Amino acid sequence: MGCLAMSKPGTRELLADLVAFNTVSRESNLALINYVRDYLAGFGVNSQILLDESGQKANLLAVIGPQDKAGIVLSGHTDVVPVDGQRWHSSPFILHEADGRLYGRGTADMKSWLAAVLALVPHLVTRPLRQPVWLAFSHDEEVGCKGVPGLLAHVDNLPVLPAVCIVGEPTEMRPILGHKGKIALRCEVTGHASHSAYTPQGVNAIEYAVRIIQRLMALAEQLQLQQNIAFDPPFSTLQTGVIRGGEALNIVPAHCQFDFEIRMLPGVEVQPMLDQLAAWCQRELLPQMRRVSPDCAITFSPLSHYPGLQTANSAAIDEVLALLPPPDALHTVAFGTEGGLFQQHGIPTLVCGPGSMAQGHKPDEFISLQQLAECDDFLLRLCHWLQTV
Ligand SMILES: [Zn+2]
Repeated sequence: MGCLAMSKPGTRELLADLVAFNTVSRESNLALINYVRDYLAGFGVNSQILLDESGQKANLLAVIGPQDKAGIVLSGHTDVVPVDGQRWHSSPFILHEADGRLYGRGTADMKSWLAAVLALVPHLVTRPLRQPVWLAFSHDEEVGCKGVPGLLAHVDNLPVLPAVCIVGEPTEMRPILGHKGKIALRCEVTGHASHSAYTPQGVNAIEYAVRIIQRLMALAEQLQLQQNIAFDPPFSTLQTGVIRGGEALNIVPAHCQFDFEIRMLPGVEVQPMLDQLAAWCQRELLPQMRRVSPDCAITFSPLSHYPGLQTANSAAIDEVLALLPPPDALHTVAFGTEGGLFQQHGIPTLVCGPGSMAQGHKPDEFISLQQLAECDDFLLRLCHWLQTV
């Protein structure tokens, strides 16, 4: 009933509303989720709100069209990266237009996609769709794709699995068919302190950490052997990014921890390599350390993990690609998305959305009006396609 009375705000008005919600990952996203739920309800569309265990974050899942058909998922994350320490020329949470661009946190990554999807809803509800559209809005993507598994648990239980998922991360509306996966780990080395004049009585945690890092550097070289020219760089990479240890120069350091990450090509399995590394630490390093002090230890703990994406071949993917400009030569991106997780759950997935990641995560993040218009046009073509397939 509400549909006729409901006005139809455009993508730009919706974007202004979405940007005004401060959904930096450490904040609750519930106000934005409730706004989306109310907006959808205005068009007679019910939402499932999937709260996390804290009750402060939620995913939203909604469907328009016949649920006994496969259909398509339009997916995006609701959280944004912080603005701390960044110099903005306008308020990051107030949409600001200048020179054909709209400025604000999340305009590129990725509230413009969410706004365009919401602006499509009035069209979707009045058209005779033969395939459904699922709206999948997640929380906590920017801190390691933590929200979307809860959403996928619900998707797994659908009577018919969607045939395509589009993750609308900013690609300037070019279809992207792959990205690397990532695993980040923390290694903690516990040695034994002593006066630095008596180094043999201590176990130097920094020096053992260095030996592990050297081992990692050798693994990084091994990873280069397997190449895929669709990616830049064309191999899996590994690096140590943070290290902390030691108290003072005259104390043998008892503690050192470092964080490292592997960005792996889709299909490259790194767990065996990590298991071998841990086994090497147990076999080679720990006995030496424990000869001096039995309480020495080396532990590895995961910080975050998401799988890579290599878009599966399918007829439905081909049909969606036909609605888009052709992929460029590389057709991959360096950044990660939730796409690999959707595909792991059996839904062929591609990444395509308005704006450019060149503006993502930066001060004065923006989307061009041109990109916004291209996204609206694509979604209208998609709406038409869903009436014919
Ligand atoms: Zn993003």
